[in-house]
Amino acid sequence: MEFQTIKEGRIFYFHGPVNIGYLRNHNEGMLIDAGIDSSTMKKVLKRLREEELPITHLFITHAHSDHYGGAAFLQSKKDVQTVAPVLESAILQYPVIEPLYLFGGNDPLPELRNKFLEGTPVRIDQELEDGSWQIGNFAIETILLPGHSYHQLGLLYDGILFAGDSYFGKEQLDKHGIPYLTDTQLAMESLHKLKGITCEGAVPGHGVFEQEFRHTVQANLDYHDGLLDWVEEELQKKPNGTTHEEITALMCAHYQVRADQLSQWLLFRTAVTAYLTALLKQNRITTEIKDYRWVFKPLKGV
Ligand SMILES: [Zn+2]
Repeated sequence: MEFQTIKEGRIFYFHGPVNIGYLRNHNEGMLIDAGIDSSTMKKVLKRLREEELPITHLFITHAHSDHYGGAAFLQSKKDVQTVAPVLESAILQYPVIEPLYLFGGNDPLPELRNKFLEGTPVRIDQELEDGSWQIGNFAIETILLPGHSYHQLGLLYDGILFAGDSYFGKEQLDKHGIPYLTDTQLAMESLHKLKGITCEGAVPGHGVFEQEFRHTVQANLDYHDGLLDWVEEELQKKPNGTTHEEITALMCAHYQVRADQLSQWLLFRTAVTAYLTALLKQNRITTEIKDYRWVFKPLKGV
């Protein structure tokens, strides 16, 4: 993890597999996200100590464990005021909700209760909607960016946007094959929103800080469009319908994702469903329950 300066003395980020932002204003310091576990947070705290930088606040963009798994350790070591988006806050306080929803509402099997799906519970001191807020010394603006997580908030401070997982770096897009989304339609609306934000640069949750981040945002839009087209064309091959299970398998195989464990497969199943629901919202396909199966069909006359 490298500690990189974005604005001298004021805005930094720890660049790693999951980025962690850091804002400084006089005697206060705010982390943006907390990494996946306590060992990540230990490294963050060590570096801040070496740099003699304060830590008084924590902002969590969304309730995925790679972004909040280190928060409980931080809270055990430091008195940090912790703020998070509404709804995401419920999951942060009761992290079993993630394996629970991925497992379709059934009590999750023990193997699903791992650190990638379920972090240690986090105390939340303040819940935020989108808007303008004064958090200690920090005048921040929060921006609702759903689609990857139900109520994800980006944070805009002093001209720099911390975008959470609303877009991915180009390298990460290719690596993921099928990016994790809960609603591709909303994710694409969030990407269009990002392009319209006036700021000097942005940091994604996975990727690098860029002034010209709008090119990367556009690459995300193009990528999702490509996946939507692929799913639509695949469904057109079978006018009588393709089951949800079948299209999940076809898409995972085509994009060569690794899903040999139940937890990974459940994440991809959710992502595939996000593309299907987007096609439904765009009236490009139809759906029905047929012979006790969830089936998707191309529009008539295609
Ligand atoms: Zn995420």
